[in-house]
Amino acid sequence: MAFEVEKLLRPHIASLLPYSSARDEYSGTEGVFLDANENPIGSITQESFNRYPDPYQRELKEDLGRIKSVPPSHIFLGNGSDEAIDLLFRAFCNPGMDNVILLPPTYGMYEVSANINNVNIQKVPLTRDFQLDIKGIKNAINEFTKIIFICSPNNPTGNKMRREDILQVAKCFEGLVVVDEAYIDFSDEASFTEEMENYQNLVVLQTFSKAWGLASLRLGMAYAAPQIVSILNKIKPPYNISGLTQKTVLAALMNYGRVKDMVREILSNREELNAKLKDLPVVMKVYPSDANFLLVKVMDPKRIYEFLVEKKIIVRDRSKVTLCENCLRITVGTWEENKALIAAMNDYQSITAKAQK
Ligand SMILES: *Cc1c(COP(=O)(O)O)cnc(C)c1O
Repeated sequence: MAFEVEKLLRPHIASLLPYSSARDEYSGTEGVFLDANENPIGSITQESFNRYPDPYQRELKEDLGRIKSVPPSHIFLGNGSDEAIDLLFRAFCNPGMDNVILLPPTYGMYEVSANINNVNIQKVPLTRDFQLDIKGIKNAINEFTKIIFICSPNNPTGNKMRREDILQVAKCFEGLVVVDEAYIDFSDEASFTEEMENYQNLVVLQTFSKAWGLASLRLGMAYAAPQIVSILNKIKPPYNISGLTQKTVLAALMNYGRVKDMVREILSNREELNAKLKDLPVVMKVYPSDANFLLVKVMDPKRIYEFLVEKKIIVRDRSKVTLCENCLRITVGTWEENKALIAAMNDYQSITAKAQK
């Protein structure tokens, strides 16, 4: 189906005159800068932060684009992927009128962001094996559907979606298909950025919060066709990525090898944790994972959760979530952390065994 971004965009955004910052109107790096009301003397910190940062993060996008094989014009950077999610709602979904399709169980921010923006939600649950219900999705699409959110590998189930299923959805839908790849570095699946050329309606989200170990910096990326990136740039706060973040991540990109090493270590820890958990009688099932966490089905999730909290080990209780009955979501920790978790689970095991005698 032909994708026309102009048809999808909210009319007032199309005609919006964006804020023009000082660094928009003059983007040169040399000169006497008397245009932005900055403090010319300097900062009170050791490092200088007195000048506004590049609003379009050009250097960062150049280097990131090289690593990801994506041209800078296809990259949007946000204050976490959460900012990109919010901006997509604000650009494309008319409050009280349009809807988005969510595929539970999935990442909670899509629903929260839809609610903040007063956008209707249509839920099409995943199948029992946590894959896309293609028929259900196709049935749910109507003239007011603007975005379909697909998380792959999915949080909290941990699995990736079948590639051909995602492409089938992208093919039959005139709106945006957002593929959230927050966990892609832990998976052997190729990124959907490869498909952007053939599917103009794809928006691929990634983040520095997980594999890169930079959650505190708040940097997320949205890869999309340049027309979509321009729209997000038009409505974002002018200096949404701080100079400190830009500089720090620029340096981090030089150490991509270290990221790969950490991912390898986490994956090896994941396999070991998986094996140890499977050995515990209180564990009914450990779901296959393409991410840095495991979805674990247990006998008594609430009691185990509380037992672990008492031991200062915090996992995520997902037992109230659709299709995740009795499940805890456990992030893969360091070798020592995983050992502590398994020891605590063993304690729980022996205490409950004794109580049953
Ligand atoms: C953790 C996570 C993110 C990351 O969000 P940031 O705002 O970039 O920290 C995005 N999507 C999913 C599914 C996640 O689990």
